[in-house]
Amino acid sequence: MTEIGIIAVGGYNEMGRNMTAIRVDEDIIILDMGLRLDRVQIHEDVEIDKMHSLELINMGAIPDDTIMNDVNGNVRAIVCTHGHLDHIGAISKLAHRYTAPIISTPYTTALIKHQIDSERKFGVKNNLISMGAGETYEITKDVSVEFINTQHSIIDTVFVVIHTPKGAIMYACDFKLDRTPTLGEAPDFDRIKSLGEEGVIALITESTNAGRSGKAPSEQIAHDLVKDVLLGTEESDVGVIITTFASHISRLNSIISFAEEMGRIPMLLGRSMDRYMTTAKELGFVELPRNVEIYGQRREVEKALEKVMREGKDKYLPIVTGHQGEPGSILIRIANGDLPYTIEPGDKIIFSANVIPNPLTQANRYALETKLRMKGARIYDNVHVSGHAYREDHWELLRMVKPEHVIPAHGTIEMHSAYIEMAEDAGYVLGDTLHLLRNGEELYIED
Ligand SMILES: [Zn+2]
Repeated sequence: MTEIGIIAVGGYNEMGRNMTAIRVDEDIIILDMGLRLDRVQIHEDVEIDKMHSLELINMGAIPDDTIMNDVNGNVRAIVCTHGHLDHIGAISKLAHRYTAPIISTPYTTALIKHQIDSERKFGVKNNLISMGAGETYEITKDVSVEFINTQHSIIDTVFVVIHTPKGAIMYACDFKLDRTPTLGEAPDFDRIKSLGEEGVIALITESTNAGRSGKAPSEQIAHDLVKDVLLGTEESDVGVIITTFASHISRLNSIISFAEEMGRIPMLLGRSMDRYMTTAKELGFVELPRNVEIYGQRREVEKALEKVMREGKDKYLPIVTGHQGEPGSILIRIANGDLPYTIEPGDKIIFSANVIPNPLTQANRYALETKLRMKGARIYDNVHVSGHAYREDHWELLRMVKPEHVIPAHGTIEMHSAYIEMAEDAGYVLGDTLHLLRNGEELYIED
């Protein structure tokens, strides 16, 4: 008799700081250790890399894993699905408390390594195991971890499957069923379906966009939207600046290719742009054109923008950080006049991103756009599609996987509610086969 427990550690009451633990008798696998960034940003002058875990737990910025003390068992592995901060951002604060390796795909592993290297409070010495989609790692003789390829707004994202003597547990936290991705392969539908035939005990799934009707548009649509804005214009010689998520490598890859079609030199600016893209290039995920320029350091960025002003704005396409109006980002510094780039009336600023719906971000973004408009910039907003599955994508995944139990994770109670309504349509019963978990709770799955 195998007993299974699903422990909601973080990310069940909120967006961010995701962490789930799966207990198979006394062997525990931790899935994701994320950061909730907006809980850090409300404090001025916070330096996370110097802060203690308990302080961050009290701020609600990282998962409260002290509850793990009450769980009967030993942590055998920490597994991360992808490299977004709300999935790996707490590794440097929590992982050292467990004698367990960290298993993730190559790109995610490189980002985790960077997190650990920049940590200044704790020494994190967990073994890092890099494993590709389609591969399986044996944790004990009874428990193994399998990665299945999927798509999301960052490369090298996987579904995680934990195989137990009772059947499989699938963890689908952050995915998009994109059949026409612009980088990487479509999700491995064959494997998802065969897993459904083999028998899945539980599906733990993100619920972010479960409230949005229909299916999430493919990244190919975003590719076309961005292309239409950049190339579909009669004013092809004005200054253009584009901003998007530094971790969205496929989007950046598209933008870089459009720069070529525009006859401009693509110029990536900002510390995070440099880190995410340089890592992707080093690992062979992208091939960049020879003329691409990437600058992360403050001085390099200043020099690069001086060059753009000197040689002509029509020669370059700056691709910058700052789509949410983040303090210290390149775009807000340009808007504030703190960098040697002058916005002139008619210059175009393209936001290839949505506004993250929290009041702090909305205020930052409002201030940024207003400052840019006051200088005469023309704003192109939301030239973007989401990286999270919509309601009908969730419906399809649920019907392919056919789990006995479903648990929405990674979201607010509103997001979980939307998921629950959809799952009820698919025949699941709340409190019986469909479960609403809150942070700190353990669900026991009995025969
Ligand atoms: Zn994500």
